Amino acid sequence: MRKTILLILLILLFSSAVLSLITEEELQKKREEMVNLIKSRGIKDEKVLKAMLKVPRHLFVDKALWDSAYGDFPLPIGYGQTISQPYIVALMTESLRLRENEKVLEIGTGSGYQAAILAEITRKVYTVEIIKELADKAKERLRSLGYTYVMVKWDDGYYGWKEYAPYDAIIVTCAPDHVPPPLTQQLKEGGRMVIPVGPPGMYQTLWLIEKINGKLKFTDLGGVLFVPLQRRK
Ligand code: SAH
Repeated sequence: MRKTILLILLILLFSSAVLSLITEEELQKKREEMVNLIKSRGIKDEKVLKAMLKVPRHLFVDKALWDSAYGDFPLPIGYGQTISQPYIVALMTESLRLRENEKVLEIGTGSGYQAAILAEITRKVYTVEIIKELADKAKERLRSLGYTYVMVKWDDGYYGWKEYAPYDAIIVTCAPDHVPPPLTQQLKEGGRMVIPVGPPGMYQTLWLIEKINGKLKFTDLGGVLFVPLQRRK
C-alpha cells in the first residue's frame, strides 16, 4: 500500500516537472515570436530587442495570464492599471536612445516590466509609482529577478525624483494632460523624454521631448492610449 502511494506521488511529481518544463519552453518560444513581431513593426535597436528577448514578461502578470503574456496587447496588473503592450514598450525605449551608464527616470512603475527592460540597458534606473501596493510588489519582483540596482519609490511622479536629478532620459508610462514642469526641469541638457500627453480616457499623443541648448524640441511619435497620470490629493 505504502509503495503504491509512493509510486503515485513520484509519478505526480515527475509529470508536474515535465509539464512546467514544457511551459517554460513554450513561453520562451512565445517571447521570441513577440520580438519578431516587434521587429517587423519597425523596432531596430538591438539593445531593446535583446532586452525584450531576455526579460520574462509573464512573471510580471498573474499566473492566469501567462498564456497571453507575450501577445502584443496590454494586460491588467490590478488596481485598474495595465502593463503596456510590448510594441509600445519597445517604441518608447528605443526613442529614449538610452546608453549604458546613463541615468533614467520612469514615472509609473506598475508591474516593473518597463523598468526591467531599462535595467537591461543601464544600471541607473529610478522609478516612481503612486499606488503603494504596486510599488511594493514591483520592488519585490525586481529584486527577486536580480534587478537589485533598480530604485523604486512610492510617490506622486508628477514631481519626478529630485534627489537623483538630472536624468539623461525620462519615460512616463501614464498620461498627464500637460507636460509636468518638474520633469522637464529634471531632464539633462541633451536629455530625452518620452511622454503621452492628452485628456484622460481618450487617445493621447506620444511625444519625444529633447532638451537642446536649454530649449525643448517636440516630436510627435503617434497616438497612444495610456491610463491617466493621477495626482496625490
Ligand atoms: N510601466 C508599467 C505600466 C504602467 S501603468 C509597467 O511596465 O508595468 C501606469 C502606472 O502609472 C500605474 O501603475 C499607475 O498607478 C501609475 N501612476 C499613475 N499616476 C502616477 C503618478 N502621478 N506618479 C507615479 N505613478 C503613477
